[in-house]
Amino acid sequence: MTEANDSVRFKSKLKLTFADQATEKDFQAKQTNLNTRLVRLTMFVTIVLCSLFYFALLPIQTINYQATYFTVYIIIVLHCILFYTFTYHRLYALHNLSYNALSTLVISAGILIAVYRMPTIAPMILHSTGLPIAAFFILFGISWAQALLLALFYFCAVIYTATIIPQSLIDLSLAIFNFFGFFVISSIAGYMLERQKRQVYLAERNTNQLIKSLESSQKQLLELSIKDGLTELFNRRHFDEIGVLKTNEAKRLKSTMHLLMIDVDFFKPYNDHYGHPAGDEVLVSIASTLLKTLRRSTDLIFRVGGEELAVILLGDDTENLNQISQSVHDAINALAIEHAKSPIKKQLSVSIGIASLKPLSNETFDDLYNKADKALYLAKQSGRNKTAIY
Ligand code: GH3
Ligand code: MG
Ligand code: MG
Repeated sequence: MTEANDSVRFKSKLKLTFADQATEKDFQAKQTNLNTRLVRLTMFVTIVLCSLFYFALLPIQTINYQATYFTVYIIIVLHCILFYTFTYHRLYALHNLSYNALSTLVISAGILIAVYRMPTIAPMILHSTGLPIAAFFILFGISWAQALLLALFYFCAVIYTATIIPQSLIDLSLAIFNFFGFFVISSIAGYMLERQKRQVYLAERNTNQLIKSLESSQKQLLELSIKDGLTELFNRRHFDEIGVLKTNEAKRLKSTMHLLMIDVDFFKPYNDHYGHPAGDEVLVSIASTLLKTLRRSTDLIFRVGGEELAVILLGDDTENLNQISQSVHDAINALAIEHAKSPIKKQLSVSIGIASLKPLSNETFDDLYNKADKALYLAKQSGRNKTAIY
């Protein structure tokens, strides 16, 4: 808990950067996409607005100013087109905020040129451009510190430009006051916006983590509730549920279903002789052997009692049943587990009882289970290490 909090803490109240580098990197990567789209939109809007402004005011321009007016217009529009194109370059993603700040500087410089070269309309330009530029800062998603730096630069440039152009004190102070106000507000807004973006990012990340861990523990719980702890086969509970479901399904589809009951021969003597832990190991290796032998996606394998396993086979392969049960015997024999106390052979073996649910049958899963159990009893009676079919 503490560790998580530490990793997401901001570096300081003023530096809105996550102390944890990986978190910061991830946040930046997510922001860059969003930010890039916003920058492209801003560039497009700037071109449209500048063009409207340019052509609307063109008729009232004096001849002296027309060249400057055109130059400034071209600087801004050309810059916007170039910058728009640059956002597609991979270099842009690396330092996008710095490039955005630089771009704002270029547009600001264009406006300052206009102020400087056209003194008689300078107050009008100064009054009318402060607000769009401040809005730019916020839209661009540049950091609040970058915004403030630019603001200070622009503010000084305005003072300098205004002092060398003869104009009334009122015009001058109004322009400076406007600019200062706009920029301070845009910096504060930028700060709040960035802080909020980062907090939203954290909240989203926490929620996603929480959902993921809930999903995985839900999955774990489900696994635990249907699996046997020792062999990791399905457990008795699942056997009872799935058995009934599959029986009903087989009846509905008029298809066949087989139930194999598999029981370890002379397992009590084995445990007595080799010890319970060794017995457990045997159960685990028998389980994994069954999983390897019966590999069809429809084959379901369960541990239904201590050393009693069950297999549900779906499909119409009655003729293959002998083959299937033989492959189980072969696989268990291939394990060659020594059993010194087995009266039939000095190796561990299993007996198998099989019952089938025929199409159009009225039997329940319980009937099938009883029949398979009887078949297993028969297999045991007739010498073990055998299969009996009911
Ligand atoms: P049969 O051939 O007739 O099946 O003889 P058996 O000895 O296998 O049958 P029985 O039912 O008398 O004994 C079953 C033994 O299985 C009793 C117990 O020691 C053992 N057993 C049951 N569950 C576990 C288990 O989880 N781990 C281990 N190691 N042994 C188990
Ligand atoms: Mg047994
Ligand atoms: Mg038994």
